[in-house]
Amino acid sequence: LGISFNTLEYFRVLTSRCPQLSIQVFAKTVCEINSIAFRPHYRDQFSAAIDAFLEIKRRSHARLEKALGRTDPLWSYKNACVPCTYKVADEAPMTYIMQSTLDGNESLKRMKRVKKPSAESDEPAISIERPDSRTLDNAQYMSEDYVNEFKDENEAPTNVPDGSPVDALEKPTPCVDKWANLAADSTKKSVGNFQETGLFLHACRHGNALAYCDMIESGERAKYPLSLVSHLLTNIPGPHIIGYDIGCGFSTTATNKCEHVFSQSNGLARCTRLASRFHRRQLIDRWF
Ligand SMILES: [Zn+2]
Repeated sequence: LGISFNTLEYFRVLTSRCPQLSIQVFAKTVCEINSIAFRPHYRDQFSAAIDAFLEIKRRSHARLEKALGRTDPLWSYKNACVPCTYKVADEAPMTYIMQSTLDGNESLKRMKRVKKPSAESDEPAISIERPDSRTLDNAQYMSEDYVNEFKDENEAPTNVPDGSPVDALEKPTPCVDKWANLAADSTKKSVGNFQETGLFLHACRHGNALAYCDMIESGERAKYPLSLVSHLLTNIPGPHIIGYDIGCGFSTTATNKCEHVFSQSNGLARCTRLASRFHRRQLIDRWF
């Protein structure tokens, strides 16, 4: 099967505008235009071709960045939003150098790939996830290992594994009662059949994604905001003002810029649910 670069580029641009368009639907469309009967292996071949095409694009882009002097591995993170990060010569110092928000979203889930030994067996299902060593070089997409460094950061008096962002507060805050995310049903319980249960996002006030990480077999846990805030303060030091949307009932602390971003990225959900781990990350990397 021969696939032209023009077709691959057309698919890349089309899915950047219409994220819910799947590879299979596009492959069937191309077959119909060319009066060819669709066969299931065409979808796999097109998927492999897209992977190779995107890797070529990524490497050529990396060479371009190097030629432009953008050799800092965190360049894309430190320059994720030009209005927020660009410094004008002799600019008067600002009270806060950046305003940003944090929030989690459960749309970009991915099903676990497991298999039971037999239909009658009571033994737990075993993972049939295919090993895939491919990685994405994206400074804004925090790794699971980095996020887990903050797993034990919050000393939880209630001995709840991983704790919540308010466990260590000495003084009670009315926000706790308002925080829908603290409900037992929606937080610290793993979400059944899903490996990745969503995405946790850090976005600036202009709606540009600064950084994000996967929520893995959990709801919103303290390690997600802690890791993203720590990364921000380490690499873009300065006085920041950060809102974390915990469903607070006080309009003065509520932020919703992340919801604005998620309202656009939710279209990816149709393709991430049954994707492999790498392809889900690839879809998110391309979108953000
Ligand atoms: Zn911004």
